[in-house]
Amino acid sequence: MKPEHFPEFIRDQVLPRPRTGLVYRCLGCGREFGIEKLLYTCPECRQVLLLEDLQSDLLRQTPGKRWREIFDYRRMLTIPALRGIYRYHEFIGPVMPLESIVYLGEGHTPMIRMNQALETTIGMKVHFKNDGQNPSASFKDRGMASALSYIHYLLQQGMVSDVLAVCASTGDTSASAALYAAYLQPGVKSAVLLPHKKVTPQQLSQPLGSGARVFEIPGVFDDCMKVVEALSEHYNVALLNSKNAWRILGQESYSYEIAQDFEYDLSGKVIVVPIGNAGNITAVMSGFLKFHDAGVIESLPKIIGVQSEHANPVYRYYLEPDAARRRFVPVTVRASVAQAAMIGNPVSMPRVIHLVNRYNLASGRQNVFFVDVPEQAIMDCQIQANRQGHIACTHGGECLAGLLAAKAQRLVNETETAVLDSTAHALKFAGFQDMYFTSGFPADFEIQPDPALKNLPELIRPDTVPAFPAPGAPLSGEAFDTFVKGVSEEIAARLDLKPV
Ligand SMILES: *Cc1c(COP(=O)(O)O)cnc(C)c1O
Ligand SMILES: [Zn+2]
Repeated sequence: MKPEHFPEFIRDQVLPRPRTGLVYRCLGCGREFGIEKLLYTCPECRQVLLLEDLQSDLLRQTPGKRWREIFDYRRMLTIPALRGIYRYHEFIGPVMPLESIVYLGEGHTPMIRMNQALETTIGMKVHFKNDGQNPSASFKDRGMASALSYIHYLLQQGMVSDVLAVCASTGDTSASAALYAAYLQPGVKSAVLLPHKKVTPQQLSQPLGSGARVFEIPGVFDDCMKVVEALSEHYNVALLNSKNAWRILGQESYSYEIAQDFEYDLSGKVIVVPIGNAGNITAVMSGFLKFHDAGVIESLPKIIGVQSEHANPVYRYYLEPDAARRRFVPVTVRASVAQAAMIGNPVSMPRVIHLVNRYNLASGRQNVFFVDVPEQAIMDCQIQANRQGHIACTHGGECLAGLLAAKAQRLVNETETAVLDSTAHALKFAGFQDMYFTSGFPADFEIQPDPALKNLPELIRPDTVPAFPAPGAPLSGEAFDTFVKGVSEEIAARLDLKPV
């Protein structure tokens, strides 16, 4: 639908008008910095930054009801720049001109109600939000669309040229960064650093296919992150890790979509997110807070952050109930099927601490909780969910395991409605499913497959069939008939089919 066909009262606001107002805010010393330059940490104190809207009072001048109408009408627009995360332009990046926005199909991922039988077992309403249905098959595309749109803007303004974008990754950040950078060729090139043998073959194939330089480094993600930080400190590169505050801004779209999909009524809702480098949970909290501050939503949903027992520094931090006595201690990670979250020293920890405080304060009660779950539960839950019609990745399984843990601890109850973040597509982690089905997990994962959940292909090659077709060597006549008959009878026998 074209803007001129919209009702009069909304026509004026349905297309966003870019404005100034965004600054970097240091979470350490509180100083603010202009956004003309690409900054990742505070030049004064080295702490992480967040982007802050100095004109957020403008957002409050539009009533919540009107914002809801704006977003609902915008849904009908066909302008590519506004079809993704920038439907929420005023909240996601008010400085961004529409002609700078890079849209590759990210965002507006489906929220799918849980299979009924499984929901009954869990004992509450549950949805998966399938962020694996993003262009590079993970939620990372949300933040990358934001970060690369901003780089695109700087390129168009002539404020940067020949950008080399770099990132360290547990697999999905590099897939996403390489994709979006490739789209901005020739102005942007990318190089990604991966922990050697700690990303899946599917994830490795993605930046290779997008033409990025791919460097494999011995060690785990935390080690790669240090190398990338050294690169961004000493050389002229654009850092695309979630240290980059533009990434956080784009990922807030996840919260805005949930709000819109529930008709902006978030009372009794529980949002379950896996935590790795903690960029995602930062963005999820920040997004709901911004909608709440502007009156777009009236209640803040409960948030449950989930970690594997094999990589649980955030969970451990919050184990101490007395905020004054909490001390952050990085952990040494162990093998985890939630491999994209296998991080012992999350870069966004200061952001989490800052936002959890604000979130609980704005909620008027504790409204953010943390649980950890065993590897076994992550894998069992993923397989179980996917056997009931879902496409959850291992982190989606982790969210389901986390919800069950939260329910057992009475952090949530049966009157509430949960949204589980399936952060990537199941296919990216097919190798772990394969290990489960073939009992092939190395001991350090501590996972024993449940025989009832295993599934393996069955080769049908009955002794009664003398010849089988092969590529370039088809069968014909009687030999072909014998093959079809023998194979179909064997399948019928295995499936216990009754003749008609
Ligand atoms: C990056 C990632 C995570 C962890 O998100 P953080 O923002 O690092 O906490 C979880 N799941 C998948 C699939 C990811 O790619
Ligand atoms: Zn500072």
